Amino acid sequence: MSDRFIRAIFPGSFDPITNGHLDVIKRAIKLFDELIVAVGRSPIKNPLFTPEERVEMIAELVKDIPRVSVESFDCLTVEYAARKKADVILRGLRSLTDVQYEFQLAMTNRAVSGIDTVFVMTSEQYGFTTSTMIREVAALGGDVSKLIPIAIYEKLQLKLANRTKP
Ligand code: ADP
Repeated sequence: MSDRFIRAIFPGSFDPITNGHLDVIKRAIKLFDELIVAVGRSPIKNPLFTPEERVEMIAELVKDIPRVSVESFDCLTVEYAARKKADVILRGLRSLTDVQYEFQLAMTNRAVSGIDTVFVMTSEQYGFTTSTMIREVAALGGDVSKLIPIAIYEKLQLKLANRTKP
């Protein structure tokens, strides 16, 4: 057993967090001493939830998972990792289609800062879940309740109802 403390950051948009993300967090915490879920504040296309809302929703979900915390960040991922003295970046993999993009991202991050990325594969049942798909299907009235935690489902319904009010 190593006595080295390993801190990982798990950066992403999490708009909203899905069962797939949560599955990756629960698997990954077995590998690290500390895991910081890091919500990127940089604008993604049409975000549904504000960074503050995303942080709050994730915090509620991970509050009983020891050694996991959540915050937002507003700079390059590698800068944020350095600021937090993180040893590794964690990213989730769903399928082979994720690999090419994630490979490029990980190589770029390593080239610019030397930090390595650790990948954790999600359960097969969440392999097709994306936050984008969740937002789109839910906006059109589809039932996404099996793909996201119930608390997030309720927040999503509320957000969409408020959004579509004239
Ligand atoms: P980003 O916009 O940075 O890709 P996401 O919130 O979409 O942010 O994803 C954050 C990380 O979680 C990425 O590594 C992504 O591949 C991974 N991820 C997204 N959805 C899932 C899922 N269903 N299962 C496992 N990992 C996932």
